Amino acid sequence: MPEFVEVEAYARTARPVIGGTITGIDVRDERLLRRAEEGYDAEVAHVHGVVGGATIRDVRRIGKLLLLDLSGDRTMALTFGLRGWLQLDGEIARADGTRRTREVREDHVRLALEIDDEHELLLEDLLRLATLEIDVDEGRLGVDVLELDKSTFRDVLAGSRATIKGLLMDQRRIAGIGNLIADEILYQGKADPRRTASEIVGDDLDDLWTGLRRTRRRVLERNGSHHGVLIQSGSRERGESCPRCDVPMERVKVGGRTSYFCPRHQR
Ligand SMILES: [Zn+2]
Repeated sequence: MPEFVEVEAYARTARPVIGGTITGIDVRDERLLRRAEEGYDAEVAHVHGVVGGATIRDVRRIGKLLLLDLSGDRTMALTFGLRGWLQLDGEIARADGTRRTREVREDHVRLALEIDDEHELLLEDLLRLATLEIDVDEGRLGVDVLELDKSTFRDVLAGSRATIKGLLMDQRRIAGIGNLIADEILYQGKADPRRTASEIVGDDLDDLWTGLRRTRRRVLERNGSHHGVLIQSGSRERGESCPRCDVPMERVKVGGRTSYFCPRHQR
C-alpha cells in the first residue's frame, strides 16, 4: 500500500492542472466506487454531476488520501492500492518533485480526467484497489505525518493504550504511515513494536521522535517507503540480521500486521 511519500508524489503529479477545468471524466471501473450505496449507475451519475465541468481549485494530500478541491465547494478524494498511481500526460512525479515519463497501460486505467480539453490525468491501478469518493469526511483522519510536531506526537502517545506499532498506523491518530514506514520508524527510534504507546516517555520518547523525523526525511529524499534501512539491508526478511547489531531480526504480528524488529536495540 502506498504510504504518505508515494501519495505526496501523486499530488505533485497532479498539481500542474490546478486552475484547470475538468472537461471530461471517464470512470472505467465500478470497483473504484465501492461506497456506491445507491447502486453503481447512480453513483457514476453523481460523480459525473459533481466533477464534470468543475474547476480544480487545489490538490492536497492528507495522510494516504489525495484530495482534489473542486469549484462549488466539492472535493474528490482518491485512495491508492499497491500498484496504483496517477499519471499526467504520460508523466509521473517523484516525491522530490522531479518528473519522469511512463508508458500508459490502457488496460490498467480506472479513471481518466480530461482537463481544459488538453491534459489527461489518469489513475492507473493494476490490482483494482483504488477508491474514489466525493465529499469525504476529512475529520476521520488524524494529523498528517509531515505536519506532526513533537508536542502533538507526545500527546498522541500519551492518550493511547494501543501498541506503538498499532498507533503509528492508526490513520485516525496520525495519517500517512503504513507498515513499512512504521517498522522503519521503530527501528530508527529504538522501540519494540509491541510496547504500549502511553508508556513511551522521557529518553525513549526522544529517541522515537528522532527516529520518526529521520525516517520521514529519508523516504522523501529517496522517493519512496521502500528505501528505509530495513528494506535496503534486506532485514525485513526471514532469517536476516540487524545491520546495526548483527543479531537475527525478530518477526512478530502486531495489530494484524507483520513486523520486523531487532531484539537487541529495539526495547
Ligand atoms: Zn539492532
